[in-house]
Amino acid sequence: MKLLLIQAWNAHEATLRSKFSNLISYSSLTLAVIYSLVPEGMFERIDIVDEYSQTVNYDRVKYDLVMISSDTSSIPAAYKHSRAFRRRGAYTVIGGYHATALPEEVAKHCNTVISGPAEMAVPAFLRDFAAGTPKRFYQNTDVHPECFTVPAREQITQHKKLRIPAVLANRGCPNHCKYCSMPMMWRNDPRPVQSVIDEIRGLHTRLLIFFDPNFFVNRSYAAALMKAMIPLHILWVALATADLGNDDALLSLAYKSGCRGVLIGLESMSPASLKSAAKRFQDADQYRSLIANIHRHGLAVNGCFVLGFDTDTEAQLRRLPEYVDYLDLDLCRFAILTPYPGTAFYREMEREGRIRTKQWELYNQHHVVFAPKNISAERLHIVYRQVWKEAYSWKRIFRRVLHSPARFTLPGLFLLGANIGFRYLGIDEKRG
Ligand code: SF4
Repeated sequence: MKLLLIQAWNAHEATLRSKFSNLISYSSLTLAVIYSLVPEGMFERIDIVDEYSQTVNYDRVKYDLVMISSDTSSIPAAYKHSRAFRRRGAYTVIGGYHATALPEEVAKHCNTVISGPAEMAVPAFLRDFAAGTPKRFYQNTDVHPECFTVPAREQITQHKKLRIPAVLANRGCPNHCKYCSMPMMWRNDPRPVQSVIDEIRGLHTRLLIFFDPNFFVNRSYAAALMKAMIPLHILWVALATADLGNDDALLSLAYKSGCRGVLIGLESMSPASLKSAAKRFQDADQYRSLIANIHRHGLAVNGCFVLGFDTDTEAQLRRLPEYVDYLDLDLCRFAILTPYPGTAFYREMEREGRIRTKQWELYNQHHVVFAPKNISAERLHIVYRQVWKEAYSWKRIFRRVLHSPARFTLPGLFLLGANIGFRYLGIDEKRG
């Protein structure tokens, strides 16, 4: 039997493939995890296509099974591949965020739908498939500790990607921000510390990124993991929430263990917008001092903002580049608020009749797919483009890098690279 694994990509995001955007693109961890879950010897051939840098070929090999991972914006591509391979006699499976949010819709386009994390559902499906009794739906919300697997990264292409490996540790976030699709997919399932350490040792790397949506959320787990990382002498970055800036002990340990940067979803400068998004931390007035404290501990901060909350006004959104300067952020990213299926925000927009389109390829955070309240959809899109442009002027890039705690160091060089990558990502997103 022959197996094909695909990471589907949104055709609209082809623009993300420009040379400089590659500075901030990471290899697919999902494909590596799924590959590692396939029992040895079950297939005589396994091919892997990451559509970010590779093309799906329907006719080169006759596959028995095609498994496709996809989010909402790439689901039309997943449907297209599934249809094409089914016509050629393959059995097709779709999993990922969209399959988790709308399994019934996805089931119309493939033979089996896998919702939630892969670690338990994929082996269960493969067992049934081998026995000739695959089910229509598989769903797991938890991952038992013994089911964690070391991703088969060596099987995945790194072409057009930043060659820094990604690792998962606690895997989840217990917060329920209204627009966020993470909690639907991941529970807070911390892996045993030793298994994370063993995986990192096996990578033989000096640089690492943790992909967990909220690395520090379980403080005692994060502390135990960071203590165990100190002897590894690696440099790493992770995602965090703003209140990390209140925890000196955790910040010291983070620096000692090699952390040099955190990505924080600041989302808005307006407490009213943070409240409407049900952010757990809503005190935007504290952002500047929290970021200053994170800097004092030697960590750079990438602040992410979302445009389009009901309380957002055009005047306020236009001030975002200045606000980024005021906060002394080292890097920043902007996204248009997007009602992803499965989130409370999506349900609210549906209820209020404010969804403008269900053309899923537009659900990539660069298009306005719902009707905002205080600003027209067209103006929101224009302001979004303007904000990217102004925040990533060369003047602002150099100011950010020279103000950063990482300046004149190896991480400072990465910071410069990341700022340039984001400048081009912004340019690409304006085209997209
Ligand atoms: S804190 Fe971040 S990861 Fe957690 S629910 Fe909110 S936006 Fe999602």
